[in-house]
Amino acid sequence: AKVNSNRKDNKALLPGVKNIIIVASGKGGVGKSTVATNLALGLSAEGASVGLMDADIYGPSLPIMMGLRDERPKMMDVNGKGMIVPIEKYGIKTMSIGLLIDEKQAVVWRGPMASSAIRQFITDVHWGDLDYLVIDMPPGTGDVHLTLMQAIPVTGAVIVSTPQAVAAADAKKAIMMLKQDQIKVPVLGIVENMAYFTPAELPENKYYIFGKGGGRQMADQFEMPFLGEIPIVQSIREGGDQGVPAVMSDEAAAKKPFVNLAKNVA
Ligand code: ADP
Repeated sequence: AKVNSNRKDNKALLPGVKNIIIVASGKGGVGKSTVATNLALGLSAEGASVGLMDADIYGPSLPIMMGLRDERPKMMDVNGKGMIVPIEKYGIKTMSIGLLIDEKQAVVWRGPMASSAIRQFITDVHWGDLDYLVIDMPPGTGDVHLTLMQAIPVTGAVIVSTPQAVAAADAKKAIMMLKQDQIKVPVLGIVENMAYFTPAELPENKYYIFGKGGGRQMADQFEMPFLGEIPIVQSIREGGDQGVPAVMSDEAAAKKPFVNLAKNVA
């Protein structure tokens, strides 16, 4: 999945961004935010300049995953316009609605308001020059998806699913949405998260807790690249909760699958 084709469209929005990659899933809880975060950091580890935008407006998890809970973005003047400066950490620029509101506050917005917030993340955030802007989408298919994909030229989508039949069925719906005429976003491929579990005491054993091979089958069925499997690793979860993403840890079992994913996407 080579996506380094520089944008040829009208560059009125996000003029300095070469590739816009959305990370989408059919349903919540499959590890979409974990994949988006570690994909962004993996691309950065390859030497790219990367931004990470949290479009999961109703359940922003990037502030916690990136260790930015108490950070607040600053404003800066760009050609007479006040712009929000994304926060830099681990070498990438992050912006999330969770950085603007209180963590305990729920976002209770109707679709149009969520859509306008997302539009501001594109027009009012100073992303600057980036090789990749990785966007963590809300789960499913809705207003925010339409707004984003119609407003900006998305280079491609990475679909995250678990091997479970219900997750795969929902991921298929997300793929169908991307294929629609008004949207037409190319799918870069499918990542199977939580593919298997290997206990530390039995490093040769793989337990396919949620079923085996569903991601690859789906990729075959839709004639899309299979971008790889991410195993269930306790430290991936712990790193997410502690704000130290897997790619930034020194545990190979947690880090390597995401580094490989970034190589497949770059
Ligand atoms: P989503 O964005 O799809 O709702 P998250 O990325 O928030 O999903 O992941 C849900 C939970 O599962 C989080 O606690 C996360 O740390 C954990 N998790 C995700 N992927 C893995 C994995 N491969 N191994 C262990 N825990 C994981």
